[in-house]
Amino acid sequence: MKLDEGPWTVEKIRKKIAKHFVWLLIAWWTGGAWVLYFTDAPTLVYTLATFQPGAFEAYLWIGILTFTTYVFAGWMREKLCLHACPWPRIQAALTDEYALNVTYRYDRGEPRMSLKQATALRASGEQVGDCVDCGQCVAVCPTGVDIRKGSQLGCIQCGLCIDACDGIMTKIHRPTRLIGYDTELNVKRRECGQPAVYKPMRARTLIYAVLIVLIGGFMTLTLATRGDMRVSVLHDRNPLTVRLKDGGVRNGYTMRLSNMQSKMRRFTVAIAGVDGATPEIVGVTPDAQGHIVIEVGPDQTRETRLLLAAPDAAGKSGQTPITVTMTDAQSGVAVEARDVFVWP
Ligand code: SF4
Ligand code: SF4
Repeated sequence: MKLDEGPWTVEKIRKKIAKHFVWLLIAWWTGGAWVLYFTDAPTLVYTLATFQPGAFEAYLWIGILTFTTYVFAGWMREKLCLHACPWPRIQAALTDEYALNVTYRYDRGEPRMSLKQATALRASGEQVGDCVDCGQCVAVCPTGVDIRKGSQLGCIQCGLCIDACDGIMTKIHRPTRLIGYDTELNVKRRECGQPAVYKPMRARTLIYAVLIVLIGGFMTLTLATRGDMRVSVLHDRNPLTVRLKDGGVRNGYTMRLSNMQSKMRRFTVAIAGVDGATPEIVGVTPDAQGHIVIEVGPDQTRETRLLLAAPDAAGKSGQTPITVTMTDAQSGVAVEARDVFVWP
């Protein structure tokens, strides 16, 4: 901040350039990491590192994600949490007067004043608050909220201000939890000399508990029963179809096999739908029985080129649905993917 307020000097420019360069570097690193989630990471890293053609989309998305991370995390920061994140709105809709939220207990904290003043007034028997106006609760708040002004939408309930204030209270030998989980209602009640009330069992909390159990149960069930292998097929965009010298027709696809087990597995691949069509996987030789067998490493996906050639296009037009079946050679479990064969 001191640097920002000072005049523009060579040193200030140097520091600013260095800072933004580091920000961009972090943004590029995290943006790049995001892109790797959506593709085969080692293959893409190799493609990018060796500047191979055909990675335009990856470069574009890394650029977009680097730029947005730089702007959102570097420049907008807590403004993004306050204005773009839906969480504060959801939180406000879920809460009620009995919900425990991070609360400044102003019945105990006010009137606030410096430690010196408070010590002097206390010594003369006057009633003073425990808040020494040190500003630590605001300094640690990631969204810049001053919780002493009451509950606010910007508060993400992280509790950092509680820890900060507890540290101060310990140092000045006052009871901790001047900021703590409480309700505005209780603070008001204590101010009027009434006991605090806590109602953990309310219609709202019971409904939330049932919903959490239902959604959690559904997610657990989905996770427990999810498949551990997958096949996907994507028809070439261009050319859609190729007529061969012998009058046959060939279509090309990108096929991806996923093995979600922590051991290497062998899968047989069969394609059905087009009578007499011959499948070929580039780089894979069928075994003695003519089966296409592909090995996929533990927790890996393998992308392959599938070429499907039909002997004769006479009388055919439009599209014919095809089914690609991937079968675990050991367990016999099979999964399918569907696409189409395009005729000229
Ligand atoms: S709980 Fe977190 S977000 Fe809320 S006021 Fe305290 S430090 Fe800020
Ligand atoms: S940290 Fe505690 S004592 Fe310091 S300003 Fe905040 S509420 Fe007051």
